[in-house]
Amino acid sequence: MPIVEIDTKSGFCFGVVTAIKKAEEELEKGNILYCLGDIVHNNEEVERLKQKGLVTINHEEFKQLKNTKVLLRAHGEPPETYRIAEENNIEIIDATCPVVLRLQQQIKEAYTKGDREKEEIVIYGKRGHAEVNGLVGQTEGKAIVIEGSEDWALVDTTKKIHLYSQTTKSVEGLNKMAEGLRRLQGTDNNLEYHDTICRQVANRIPNIREFAIKHDMILFVCGEKSSNGKVLFEECKKVNPETQMISNVSMIDTSKLSGKKNIGICGATSTPKWLMEEVAEFVKSIIE
Ligand code: SF4
Repeated sequence: MPIVEIDTKSGFCFGVVTAIKKAEEELEKGNILYCLGDIVHNNEEVERLKQKGLVTINHEEFKQLKNTKVLLRAHGEPPETYRIAEENNIEIIDATCPVVLRLQQQIKEAYTKGDREKEEIVIYGKRGHAEVNGLVGQTEGKAIVIEGSEDWALVDTTKKIHLYSQTTKSVEGLNKMAEGLRRLQGTDNNLEYHDTICRQVANRIPNIREFAIKHDMILFVCGEKSSNGKVLFEECKKVNPETQMISNVSMIDTSKLSGKKNIGICGATSTPKWLMEEVAEFVKSIIE
């Protein structure tokens, strides 16, 4: 009988668990609750909470609201969001992850205390990602976002660089950014390196590699917008080319299941356990 195993170390990180718990507590009171952006980068979980009454809104819709409650998800928000909330009498249920909050404070401090003429805040992350917008907002929009070596030209390397990272990037990628920028600075390199990567993601890499290598095939369950999902999926794929990324059971290529003796199911920090269980049940029903 083939084995179907769920990785016990995959699934929600504490930041996401807290945000969902806060949302559910509010919804249980029977009040209307808005969430600014998807509460988690997983459509299935967003849909489950929508059924309970959570209304997802974008920033434009947020500006129109008054006298209500809005939940801020784990990714955090720029100061502008809090200002609008105050003006419009919106009660904020703040589920910003403490790790992100610390990073926002660090960036704000470096920006406020730094010499704007001679220093620059650089953030390694995905442009337009909610967490990155929240970080850039700490610098009045002045921080420079780099996604890769193609963006190094945006950085003024004659200045002192304070390099930070979006929490879900890879340590390897951040090191590459630091090395490249230092090289461009030349002999007077003047770069302050801040490894602000969340260990909830980084520490999962060795585990997920070990898990992926043990199985003939991996079904990596995650939403398309999940940044850490992309990182963890790539790690699985490096050690096990028989890795498929799926958002839900309908995406499973069932033809690839035949003949497999050992199928592993794992996911990102935004993947609900119930979804991995659903995938496991479906796979069992096909192969048994
Ligand atoms: S991945 Fe880390 S920083 Fe992001 S929400 Fe989870 S615990 Fe917080």
